[in-house]
Amino acid sequence: MDCLFCKIAQGQIPSNKLFEDDKILAFYDIDPQAPVHFLVIPKQHVDSAAALGEQDGELLAHVFATIARLCKELGCDNGYRVVTNVGEDGGQSVKHLHFHVLAKRSLAWPPG
Ligand code: 5GP
Ligand code: ZN
Repeated sequence: MDCLFCKIAQGQIPSNKLFEDDKILAFYDIDPQAPVHFLVIPKQHVDSAAALGEQDGELLAHVFATIARLCKELGCDNGYRVVTNVGEDGGQSVKHLHFHVLAKRSLAWPPG
């Protein structure tokens, strides 16, 4: 499959990695929207959060526990935002599930 984030997960395209194990990869976004902006992806291809099911609970817990640990390590003590865009209206440009993590600036809500 011709998927950018599968290629990044497999190391075929380089990325600035924060953490990886056999299940997930965390790497910095190439076009950061905040002083800290990284992405967390499952290594196994999933189209988007719309494709998640009950069987993915363990993976999601691992993603969020990893985000919490990385944010602590990066000193994001004032908080952070986790976002996953789904589909066209959601603004998803890469069709491989990813969680944006943004921190170290005040983030507006609601988003535009
Ligand atoms: P989306 O718009 O799908 O929610 O988010 C995709 C994100 O992937 C964007 O924030 C974009 O900057 C990032 N991105 C796109 N291509 C690359 C790449 O080749 N490397 C990295 N590190 N990030 C990328
Ligand atoms: Zn993929």
